[in-house]
Amino acid sequence: MRRLLCLLLLLFLLSACAAPGAPAEEVPPEAPPEEAPLPEEPPPPPEPEPYEIGDPTEEREGYVPWTGVVEHLFFHPVIAYPELAFDGDSQANGLDDFMVTVGEYNKILESVYEKGYVLVDINSVWSQEEGEEGPKMVRNTLYLPEGKKPLVLSYDDTNYYPYMLENGFAHKLVIGEDLKIASWGKDPQGNEVVSRDLDAIPILDKFVEEHPDFSPFGAKGCLSLTGYEGILGYRTQTDTQEWDDAKEANRQKEREAVKPIVEELRRTGWTFGSHTWGHIRLGDGNMTRIEADTQRWLDEVGSLVGETTILFYPHGERPDGNDWTQTGPAFQYLHSQGFRVFCSVGTESFSFIKKDICAVICDRLHPDGTTLRRSRERYLQFYDAKDIIDLEVRPEREISWAE
Ligand SMILES: [Zn+2]
Repeated sequence: MRRLLCLLLLLFLLSACAAPGAPAEEVPPEAPPEEAPLPEEPPPPPEPEPYEIGDPTEEREGYVPWTGVVEHLFFHPVIAYPELAFDGDSQANGLDDFMVTVGEYNKILESVYEKGYVLVDINSVWSQEEGEEGPKMVRNTLYLPEGKKPLVLSYDDTNYYPYMLENGFAHKLVIGEDLKIASWGKDPQGNEVVSRDLDAIPILDKFVEEHPDFSPFGAKGCLSLTGYEGILGYRTQTDTQEWDDAKEANRQKEREAVKPIVEELRRTGWTFGSHTWGHIRLGDGNMTRIEADTQRWLDEVGSLVGETTILFYPHGERPDGNDWTQTGPAFQYLHSQGFRVFCSVGTESFSFIKKDICAVICDRLHPDGTTLRRSRERYLQFYDAKDIIDLEVRPEREISWAE
């Protein structure tokens, strides 16, 4: 008690010395407790949860080699608000054809998970090797937990084009308060919504958090990006029509804003591929256009997402006359720009290592309105369209499997 009194007195004197004439009420009204805590250091900046990425081509205890087909499904951004997508406007049928809703997407993930698929990154499936006659692509052996089957996911046009914004899609990806990737958008009433439940990317992140065995190597999907409306909802593109300093300043701001998003996606298992800058058709052999488009993609998108060897054909259209057996000038040019895995769209997860050039061509299956309505059988290994399709929200159109 005496010590406390001394301390009080000392404090009083000190404050009196330090501030002569200070009003009496500035004297601390109470002495600090005997074991006063040290002044607290500012809390360290919050850090995102660690995330581990493994290599499925490494042998490991309890994992068995897989040399069969690697299935590949692709999605577009998913419809968060079907009432905005299927409102009878001129785009409604196109969205019905090529998109799935959040509810359908959730059911598809649940079903492929239950059927024993596990995610692998497309970059793990093939490698470039030095052969006797120069480099060639080889199919890797994947080591998977026993009983599991590999599945590659890719997501086309994750650019959040302006037309999507009025049609019930997320507007952009952001980093939420929990430091995780979320989507930002507006609900049908116009309220701003940040959520992890309304876009394909954070939904898969969350699904993997809840079911870590769905992604034993930490892989998520490969984002197939164009460049003409920017990427991931950020308007990072140039424009050839009119350009001025203010537009360029805004573009640079958008580029800076998207960098942490790209970094966090990469850190948490997402990878990137090209979908060409202008979503162009590669089959027509217009080399001037193809070359200019590719350089622009590398300048505006590649410079943000990093090098990639993956090219996803817009409209599924293959180069050089849409003929997969050809290695024509367009294919050779795209190869010279670093692309090695060339993905189209098809009726099965076909893949073929080309003999005359170091490249792989492959097809992807497409869960969307067209296949939900018309290809139930073909997709039964992944899910039953009957259980997935949401006829309450989709337009009334033909279904081939309905009795
Ligand atoms: Zn596309």
